[in-house]
Amino acid sequence: MSSPSQIRCSPAAPRRFSPGVAGCLVLSLLAIGCGAKVPERSNILLITMDTLRADHLSMYGYERPTSPVLDALAAEGVRFDKAQVQWPKTGPSFASIFTATYPKNNGIVRKIGIPLPQKFLMLAEALKARGYQTHAVVANGAVASDFNFDQGFDTYVESWQQPPRADGADPNGAGVINELVRSILDKFEDDKPYFLWVHYLDPHFPYTPPGEYSELYQGDEHFDDSVRIPLDPTKTKYDMVRLGRDQILDGRDELGFYVARYDAEISYNDAKLAELLETFRGRGMMENTLTVFTSDHGESLGEHYYYFDHGRFGFQTCLNVPLFFHYPGVLEPRVDTDPVMLIHLTPTVLEFAGVELADGEWMQGRSLMPRLRGEAPTGDRPNYAYSEAGYGQHDKWQRIVRDGDYKFIYALEGGAQRWITGEVGNAFALFDLGNDPGETENLVDAQPEIAERLFRASNDWYRGEFEVLVDAAAEGEEREMDEKTREQLKALGYLN
Ligand SMILES: [Zn+2]
Repeated sequence: MSSPSQIRCSPAAPRRFSPGVAGCLVLSLLAIGCGAKVPERSNILLITMDTLRADHLSMYGYERPTSPVLDALAAEGVRFDKAQVQWPKTGPSFASIFTATYPKNNGIVRKIGIPLPQKFLMLAEALKARGYQTHAVVANGAVASDFNFDQGFDTYVESWQQPPRADGADPNGAGVINELVRSILDKFEDDKPYFLWVHYLDPHFPYTPPGEYSELYQGDEHFDDSVRIPLDPTKTKYDMVRLGRDQILDGRDELGFYVARYDAEISYNDAKLAELLETFRGRGMMENTLTVFTSDHGESLGEHYYYFDHGRFGFQTCLNVPLFFHYPGVLEPRVDTDPVMLIHLTPTVLEFAGVELADGEWMQGRSLMPRLRGEAPTGDRPNYAYSEAGYGQHDKWQRIVRDGDYKFIYALEGGAQRWITGEVGNAFALFDLGNDPGETENLVDAQPEIAERLFRASNDWYRGEFEVLVDAAAEGEEREMDEKTREQLKALGYLN
C-alpha cells in the first residue's frame, strides 16, 4: 500500500477503550507462530445463512430437529454459545464482519444501501493480498456489489442477477445457490488456497419453503395454536403489534404457523447445505480447510410484539446468532460460553491465513485463536459484546453491552424506549439472560450497580477513539443501485 494517510473517524474521547490498529494493515509473509498445527495455506470456507437466530437450532437447545447437518459440523469444531452481531441488519452486520469495525465507526447503519466506504480493507482484500483466490456466491441484495461488498473478490456471483429460471425454482433459494456455487468451482486454481463465501437467504421472510417443507412442523407436538395475532391489511410491517399486509401468509393468524414455517426454512437450508458439503468433499475441498459458519442477525418471531423482522430492537432474538469454527485435526471440539462478537471473525480468519497480527488485533476486532484453543484469557480486557440497533435518527441508536448473562440496553429514542424499557422517557434496561432469556424483566432498579457498570462500559466503548489507516488512492466511487438489486430488496421488504 502506498503511504497511507490517517483519518480520525470519531472525535477524541477518553481512551478507555482504544483498539490498537497501528501496523495492522501490513500483511506479513510469516506463517502463524502458534502451537496448533495450522497448515500454512489453509483454505477458508465461510458459510452464512441470513436471518438465523441461534435458539432455533438444535445445537443451541431448540426442541425441533431443525439443523442436523449444522449440528454435526459444529460438534466437530468450536462452537460459541453467546455470539452477538454488531447490528441486526444485513448490510451493517456484514460491513462490520468484513471490515472488523463497529457500525458507529464505519458508518454503515440502519438502512439498506449505504455503500461501504472503500477506505476500509475487507477480509477478501486482505486474503487476496496474501495470495488467496477469492470467490463468493450471495443471495441477498443488501450485500450487492452496488454497495461495494465485492471488494477483493475474484468472483462475485449475485443470485438475483441471474437470468430468469424456467423451472420455477426460487432464484435466491438454497437449491439455486448450490447450483451457482458448483458453476464456479471449475474456476478454482489448484495452486492457490481459496477463500469461498456462500451466503444463503432461506430463513429470511417471507417464510415460503419449497415443496413438502411448507408443511413441515405444522401441527406437530411443538405447534402452538393458542397465540393469535391481529391481522390488519391497512397496516405494514412497520406498525407493531399486528400483522400488516406485507406480513400475512395464507391469511393465517396463528403465531405457531409462522414459527413452523420459519423453522422449515432452516431445515430446508440445512438439508441443501448437506448437498453442497458433499460436493466439496468429493472434490477434496474440505481438506486443509477452516470452515466458519454464522449468520448476520436473527429474527423476531413475535417477542415484544415485534413480528417477523429484525433491526429495530437490540433484543437477543435478533442479536444472538450461531457461530462455529470447524477444522478437524487443528481445532479440538469444544464449546465457548463467553460472549463473543462477530467483529472478531475477520482477524481470526486472517490468523489462519498466516497474516501476522500485532497482539492478535485487526482494526477493532481481535483474533479468537486463543479462545479456539481453549486458552485462559490474558490481559484485562473483558469479553464484553457490544452492539447497536434501531430505526432512530443519527446518534439515537440503541447501544447494547453484554457481560456474561447480564445485558444492558441504552435506548436513546422514545419510540424504542416504549418497547424496551416499558416507558417513554426511561432509556435504560438491564436483563439477566440466564434467568430471563425473553428479556421481560427490567432489573435496572433492582441491580443498580450492575446497570451503572455496564452503562459506563457502553459509554466508554461508544466514545472510544478509532483511527483507520487509509490508502487515499483506494478511495472509490459510489455505485448506482442496479434495477435488479432494487427489485430484490423490495421483495425482501427492505425498500418501500
Ligand atoms: Zn440479513
